[in-house]
Amino acid sequence: MSNETVRPDSSDDPFEQLDCTAVIADIWLLLDNECDTGARARLQGHLDGCPSCLEHYGVQRQLKELVSRKCGGDAAPESLRERLRVEIRRSVTITQTSVRRDLG
Ligand SMILES: [Zn+2]
Repeated sequence: MSNETVRPDSSDDPFEQLDCTAVIADIWLLLDNECDTGARARLQGHLDGCPSCLEHYGVQRQLKELVSRKCGGDAAPESLRERLRVEIRRSVTITQTSVRRDLG
């Protein structure tokens, strides 16, 4: 049983110009089309070079789709979101295993 905590908080990646925390906070804006063109380009540029944020983005995007399908666009209860998040993360994690190789 390995403790698989994949959380590169401080990566020394050269792409790491934006703070990952800020990117993750802004991902919902990106998903909701609520950020301007410049911010969007910056976020997408970061996602291109940052597998962990890209994974987070994939999870959030699928989460948003599922939530809008299940709840008709209303905000989902946190419990539902949490459950979906776990499920989605599991599948995204499998998909992204090859990308994650680079993090080590
Ligand atoms: Zn990042």
